[in-house]
Amino acid sequence: MKLITERLGRQLQGQVITDCKTTRDNLRVFAQSIRGARVERIFCKGKHIFLEFSPDIFLQNHLLMRGRWRTVKGRLLLLPTEMWLALEVGNVTVSNVNGQVLRVLDRDGLQQQLDSLGLDVMSAECSRERIVAAMRREEAPLGEVLLDQSVLSGIGNVAKSEALFLARIHPQARVSILRPERVAKLAESILYVMWESYRAGGRWTHRVYRRAGMRCYECGNRIAMIRQGKQRRSTYFCPVCQIV
Ligand SMILES: [Zn+2]
Repeated sequence: MKLITERLGRQLQGQVITDCKTTRDNLRVFAQSIRGARVERIFCKGKHIFLEFSPDIFLQNHLLMRGRWRTVKGRLLLLPTEMWLALEVGNVTVSNVNGQVLRVLDRDGLQQQLDSLGLDVMSAECSRERIVAAMRREEAPLGEVLLDQSVLSGIGNVAKSEALFLARIHPQARVSILRPERVAKLAESILYVMWESYRAGGRWTHRVYRRAGMRCYECGNRIAMIRQGKQRRSTYFCPVCQIV
């Protein structure tokens, strides 16, 4: 999300919205109210992108699986239905395609949303020590803790599996039973895989992710997959390399 936020920032920050169109009924009032407004700031926390317009209007976006931001030259006279929002700035139109969450907020609403999210692992204030401190408060299996955006924000399903593999920790392990140096190693691995993907332009290195049944690059045994948490999210791991 950091890469997308930075790109949107380069295109929109400081610009005046000359026109705004939407195909969503719930965004029509917003679209009207930001015509002529300035884009003050674009920032992210975890996987959420926030756009701030003058005066005190905020738009929260979560792309989930299918949402995208696209930029086209010129104006769009008619929006295709999959285009939820089109922001016209100068001779460029920046549009959100397929949402998937677009929520209009005032300043209090923004603060509530920011407070509901845990430490952003890609933020400047993040450190190995702060990740350890956040994980230490949790009792659930680590495969679930890492996806809990109220604990740490920004870690997705790929980063979860890859970080646990690099730290050699079983996804069902609980932080309370791990030696401090192993918890520190996990924090370091989280930062490693997140920044590795950032430097690769958003691409992930799959050491275990979606490799169930294939050979582990480290030990040659077969990668396994389990489902964890209420949402039954898939976690890929090596049953030999990764121990509780
Ligand atoms: Zn292995």
